Amino acid sequence: MAANILLVEDEPAIQELIAFNLNQAGHHVLRASTAEAALTLVRNALPDLVLLDWMLPGASGVDIAKRLRSDERTKHIPIIMLTARSDEQDKITGLESGADDYITKPFSPRELLARIKAVLRRRAPQMTDDAVEVQGLRLDPITHRVSGNGDTIDLGPTEFRLLHFFMTHPERVHSRSQLLDQVWGDHVFVEERTVDVHIRRLRSSLESTGHDGLIQTVRGTGYRFSTQQ
Ligand code: CA
Repeated sequence: MAANILLVEDEPAIQELIAFNLNQAGHHVLRASTAEAALTLVRNALPDLVLLDWMLPGASGVDIAKRLRSDERTKHIPIIMLTARSDEQDKITGLESGADDYITKPFSPRELLARIKAVLRRRAPQMTDDAVEVQGLRLDPITHRVSGNGDTIDLGPTEFRLLHFFMTHPERVHSRSQLLDQVWGDHVFVEERTVDVHIRRLRSSLESTGHDGLIQTVRGTGYRFSTQQ
């Protein structure tokens, strides 16, 4: 399970150590030392998870968490707060600000990685390696295989990610820009009609096993993965 993780930490030695451990575990790490730098990175591309130091120069980690949670585009990003504080009240404040979890320094790399995995499993199921199956359509992230009623379905890498995102976020409408954010990661240089192109390819690949109807167009809004007609 490799994730794009935004690490916001102002102490260079700690930033280096955490980034090293995340890289070792296969994650891709973006780093920021200030709230401003962090928010700029988030504007460019949505990370899969944010590791947020509580004490930062200027705006605090709590401020950043609140800002991310108050914006429609960023409110679902999983957040783990890093802090030297261990006070129960601080923990409550951190969680109330919108953090999904809380880890007190010093922590072991193993503990941090376990927390990241747990939060991603809960908040971003498309990031985990769990196989998903809906009405005979099965997608396995580990083997990278998709099948319909047992028959192999060949998908390109983008169609695979798109289908994985849909299957782990069923029954809701996703706009083209949300899909670009979630599936492409970086929506700055990609046009929204690119989404339509890949949806068409995905549907046509799913036709052979009759699963194309699961990908539904919601007129004027976007797309939905649904078992209901
Ligand atoms: Ca700090």
